[in-house]
This record gives sequence, C-alpha cells and structure tokens, in this order.
Amino acid sequence: MLTDPVKSVPQASRETPKKDVPSLFQVLVIGALILLSFAASFLRPASAEETALPILVNKSHPLPADYDVTGFILLNTVETDLFTVKNKNTYADPEATEALLSLLADARKDGLDKWQISEAYRSVDAQQKIWDKNYQKYRNVNGLSKKKALQAVERRVAKPGCSEHHTGLAFDMTVPGKAFRLTPHAKWLATHCQDYGFIIRYTKDKEKYTGITEEPWHIRYVGIEHARKMVEENLCLEEYIEKYQNSL
Ligand SMILES: [Zn+2]
Repeated sequence: MLTDPVKSVPQASRETPKKDVPSLFQVLVIGALILLSFAASFLRPASAEETALPILVNKSHPLPADYDVTGFILLNTVETDLFTVKNKNTYADPEATEALLSLLADARKDGLDKWQISEAYRSVDAQQKIWDKNYQKYRNVNGLSKKKALQAVERRVAKPGCSEHHTGLAFDMTVPGKAFRLTPHAKWLATHCQDYGFIIRYTKDKEKYTGITEEPWHIRYVGIEHARKMVEENLCLEEYIEKYQNSL
C-alpha cells in the first residue's frame, strides 16, 4: 500500500522536489548571511571605538558637555600595594586604571616602587578652585598685575573645562618626598609608558603645541596602539589628532 504511490511517481519528479528543498534552504542561508554581513557593516561601534582617535582636551578643546564619567572608580578602594593615592577622594577611568596597574607591576619588577597618584580625575569645579587659588597666589604673593597673573596661571594651569584630568584618563605620578623629574621613575615612565597605552602628555619639545610647560609626571591613557604610534612618529596628541583626524 505504501510503496505503490511512490512507485507510481516518475523518478525525475520525485527527485526534483528533493533537490529543490535543499537549494531553497541554501538560498535562504546565503541570503541570511548576506543580510547579516550587511547589517554588521553598520553595527560596528565596538570596532570603530578601537580605532577612534583619543579624546583631545586642551585650551581650545574643552571637555564635551556629555562626557560620561559614570563608572569611574575610587582609586583608594583598588586592592593593590602598587600605588598610594594622595587624596582619598580620587577617581579614574577603569580601563586606564587597569593599564596603570600593569605598568606599575612591571615597574616594580625593574625595582621601582613607592608610586603615588597625586591626581587623576578632576571635576570642572575642582579645576576652577585650583585656577582661582593660583591666580590669587600670583596676585597676592608674587605681586603680579592682573594681566601678568593671568598669563602666569594660563601657562601652568588649564582653564576649568580644559584640563585633561576631566577625562579621568590622566594620572599625575609622583614619589612622595622626591622631585619626580629627577627620579628613576620619571625616566622609566618616559621609556616604557607607551607599551601600556600611556603617553607623557606634556614634554619640553612639544610645549609650542600643547601650550603647557613640561610635566614628566603627567601621563595620559590613549591605548597601546595610539601611544606607540605617537612615540614612533614623535607626535604629541595635538599633532597626532591633526595628522590622523581625516584618515579614519
Ligand atoms: Zn596632571
């Protein structure tokens, strides 16, 4: 009974649907794959972020109003003996902090310890206070005119909203009781920091671009790829952004 209808169907017509079903399936799969890869080409914020240029905050590039500082971590609560924190209430970007920890672990292997984080994330309000305090010092202690005091502060202190510390990606590394620029720590940082994604942000030879006097203690996290490239090409962040902003 069961075999009869099958037998009655001609061989070709029995095989045709068998062939058609998988080929239709294949078409669907291929179509889905094409759609997926097409969608993927639009849905790639992660890979865009990987290659995106580091954020630039300076005198002419204030921190964007929507810059997200949520998720920053309180450095004092990081369980490590690789650094101490000067002010208990200091926060920083978590990825940058992780990179700093691996940098400090390797520095310790080279015999360099007793690192202190003197500064990391700083709010715009806190920057305003520092700015005011410095201005008053130049006016009252150094006796400078308003104009001269202003110029003196501008050379040393970033305007509120224009400090790289607002990003949470910058750290001021010090060694308590020592002039940092004279320590082997400063030399080590300048030699190795790019391998952990950091740059010495304000160097003497780039003052004309950064507008900030040399600060061997101030490191800025930009990611390993960018940091190494900047060192390789001897570009400060301003020059780097200028060179590559149109090529990504
Ligand atoms: Zn700094």
